[in-house]
Amino acid sequence: MTMPLMQPKRKNPILRTRQMNLPPWSRGRVALGMTAAAAEGRFELQVCERCQAVQYPPREACHRCLSPELKWRKQSGEGSLLADTRLYHSNDLFFRERLPWRLGLVHLDAGPSVIVHLHGEIGAPPERVKVGARLDRAGQAVLIGFPGKGSEHMADDRMLREMTSDPKFRKVLVTDGKTAVGQALVKALVKAGAEIVWIGHAEPWKKLPGFDDITQMKEVTLVPLDLTNERAVSELAGEIGGKVDIVINNAEVHRTFGIEARRGTDVARAEMEINYFGMLRLAQGFGPALKARSADGVTHAAAWVNLLSIFALSNYPPHGTFSASKAAALSLSQCLRAEMRPAGLRVINVFPGPIDDEWNQNMPPPKLAPAALASAIVNALKEGVEDVYPGEVAQEWLERWRDNPKVLERELAAGG
Ligand SMILES: [Zn+2]
Repeated sequence: MTMPLMQPKRKNPILRTRQMNLPPWSRGRVALGMTAAAAEGRFELQVCERCQAVQYPPREACHRCLSPELKWRKQSGEGSLLADTRLYHSNDLFFRERLPWRLGLVHLDAGPSVIVHLHGEIGAPPERVKVGARLDRAGQAVLIGFPGKGSEHMADDRMLREMTSDPKFRKVLVTDGKTAVGQALVKALVKAGAEIVWIGHAEPWKKLPGFDDITQMKEVTLVPLDLTNERAVSELAGEIGGKVDIVINNAEVHRTFGIEARRGTDVARAEMEINYFGMLRLAQGFGPALKARSADGVTHAAAWVNLLSIFALSNYPPHGTFSASKAAALSLSQCLRAEMRPAGLRVINVFPGPIDDEWNQNMPPPKLAPAALASAIVNALKEGVEDVYPGEVAQEWLERWRDNPKVLERELAAGG
């Protein structure tokens, strides 16, 4: 059983703020294949195309037949714990601050033996475990031994909290929390145990259905936040920036047209102002304080979430300028991720297909319900993944894009 996490006491301001030292992060190019899969929540190992041998650690050629044809394949992770040990000393600064730390040797049913971080609910060997891949605070894949069926509070495990960005007891800022997606997000975050949810809103006079119920929640505080206004962003950052643990940038402007259908650039500019420059202003305002608190106790600053769109991968001409603004946002988000990584902060990019909202009225179903999108985002925080493609449409586009981006471009130009 994992002891449920208790709400941490308020920090004594005289005590030192723990600085972030990343766990060892250097990996060879081949090993990054495991990280790429873990970033989307999958545990993959290389499998030899010729003799089917499963490889670990990652390598250039098969350990059994020397074939260079190794393909990354999803693993079940089922295995047996052969041995465990508890680390009480380490020269590594990351682990030194977090001792004791439990490790195990697991023999996977698929063949190889792997060293894993052990979840606290796993008993002494021999014991069945399920190995999963997660990203550690350096953003690299590590293997974790999970119990087959965990208890209710298994996410509160001390080691697991170091790998994930669970909203429980954390303070979250949601930009533009008035929209249908924003409201669904706030509900999902409160349900997941967030301590405070600040809702940024740019237009206080706008009454949106359902919003009164949200503002009644005791965890919720409304804050003025206009992402087109640099000064407003930095003022709010000055006020609450030192307390925010998770930023969810949900603000977007979405209009449905391509190039020919309109004159002028005003609407396209409005999309860029929020979808691209808005994120830039928010990151400049809130990034530094977030980075400074990324190792501060069990509710340290943990993650930054950007609501992008599957249209960011390849332009969907009927939503042409919107797609372009999201492609710009994706590129900026990759920069943000690179800059946040040294602080151990996770940047999560969310690529939904068409959301069931007013701007996608003319899109054929299936469309993603705001509640489903919100729960995918909260799950991503809990699982510690980096890239999420919620819904059937996003999954299908992703597959087509990976298969051949040029073919997808042609198909989208012909209407999907
Ligand atoms: Zn082989």
